[in-house]
Amino acid sequence: MTTDNATASEKQRANPYIEVDEVLAQIQTSFNTPQLQCETNTGIETIPLADEVSFGSWQPEIPEEYWALEADELERRIRASRERLGDQVVVLGHHYQREDIVQFADTRGDSFALAQYAAERQESPYIVFCGVHFMAEAADILAAPHQQVILPNMEAGCSMADMAAAPDVYSAWRELEDFFGTTEDIIPVTYMNSAASLKAFCGEHGGVVCTSSNATQVLDWAFEQGKRVFFFPDQHLGRNTGHAMDIPLDEMVLWNWRLPAGNLGGLGDDELERSRIILWQGHCSVHQRFSLTQIEQARASFPDVQIVVHPECRYEVVQAADANGSTAFIAKYVAGAAPGSVIGVGTEINLVSRLAKENPDKTVFCLDPVVCPCSTMYRVHPAYLAWVMESLERGEVVNRIEVPAEMKANAKVALERMLALK
Ligand code: SF4
Repeated sequence: MTTDNATASEKQRANPYIEVDEVLAQIQTSFNTPQLQCETNTGIETIPLADEVSFGSWQPEIPEEYWALEADELERRIRASRERLGDQVVVLGHHYQREDIVQFADTRGDSFALAQYAAERQESPYIVFCGVHFMAEAADILAAPHQQVILPNMEAGCSMADMAAAPDVYSAWRELEDFFGTTEDIIPVTYMNSAASLKAFCGEHGGVVCTSSNATQVLDWAFEQGKRVFFFPDQHLGRNTGHAMDIPLDEMVLWNWRLPAGNLGGLGDDELERSRIILWQGHCSVHQRFSLTQIEQARASFPDVQIVVHPECRYEVVQAADANGSTAFIAKYVAGAAPGSVIGVGTEINLVSRLAKENPDKTVFCLDPVVCPCSTMYRVHPAYLAWVMESLERGEVVNRIEVPAEMKANAKVALERMLALK
């Protein structure tokens, strides 16, 4: 029997199917970490565009007729438009998109899987990518020449991708060349979450792209080609992958791109000499929120909890988790857990909420007690989707993402090197 004073853990033992809300409330009460406040902090339910606190910093061109539409009206209009457009359009929904967007997607997945899916749907000349800028670029790189890629909100970028601006990476590369006398044995590896210009840079310089699913395989390949890897933009994925490959932490050095050129990213000569992986000092603002304290708290509340996190989380968080892997891995991990399992997940809230709904026989909760979606993914508000779809019906392509031809060709080289590793 449970009482109001019983801990969530006691209640869970008495009834394994306790409400997720109850779990979150328990964890939230035990946290006292004001630094974790979310910049979006509006929940994940759709409200009219004009009521969004951040609307002022989103793409302003959207016609005023869309500003005040309520969620149900937007849903009705998108559904109708979707039907009228039929095979003319393929709608892609990234795992981190809100439910009100994902419901219209032909498929959902991670950025690379979605780009590949769209490229195979050659009967559809329009690809509406509900995700962020670098993902739409990747879709355009892989798309057939007659396909056009559309990003509903042009301000949907990625803070991690933005941390590796092409001029900063080129400048670091030149510094490395001056220091080592050559870059011949340095292999540039860019995470999928980067601008097309950096994928092209890797294509041109003997490098490759990786995803969070294949980073180990890609690094193995890179070390067959050269002595060192220059890895950008996510330091955490690079470090976590390197550690899993038994590369000592002090052989993975951090390049601080914020320092003026000429400072070797803040690294000393000896650090660079012994380095095997030079990590760009970038991170994902969503995954960097997960902490050891959160894991400790979850374990204290639920002794049998299983913790699974994304490898974009910090090293110590990944070390403290029971498992780590890509979004696809996390979804599989949750689906494969025994009924009654309690699973604390370290990834974006929209995916965690969906997994909780899809696995009602388990208790699935986000390790971060503050409901904080990826603030740039969140910019794909249904009003933008309605606008781009209804524009297509009138024969107008708004918000097209087009990677310049030469850049596209070089980026494709880096992507094909990755594909060849399968
Ligand atoms: S979750 Fe992180 S890596 Fe993904 S789009 Fe948002 S900021 Fe970028």
